[in-house]
Amino acid sequence: MEKDFCEYCNAILPDVEKLVTVYRHRRGQHFIFENVSARVCQKCGERYFSAKSVSEMQHEMTKTQQTTHLVSVPVIELQPAG
Ligand SMILES: [Zn+2]
Repeated sequence: MEKDFCEYCNAILPDVEKLVTVYRHRRGQHFIFENVSARVCQKCGERYFSAKSVSEMQHEMTKTQQTTHLVSVPVIELQPAG
């Protein structure tokens, strides 16, 4: 199998996927997905999702009424330095 490289740091991506938590937002609404399988760059931590995971997340975001639980997400604005 051909190796894939991280597009940010050029490290070889692991073949095995890990389960990660993903934060997304869509039309001003915030979503957190748990147990999303992704290949995680061991050097810089960039996460790569399969097309299937991405479309599943997109699909779930369109039916917000069926969310199992809601969490509050603090939005913190940092003051620009200087
Ligand atoms: Zn990387």
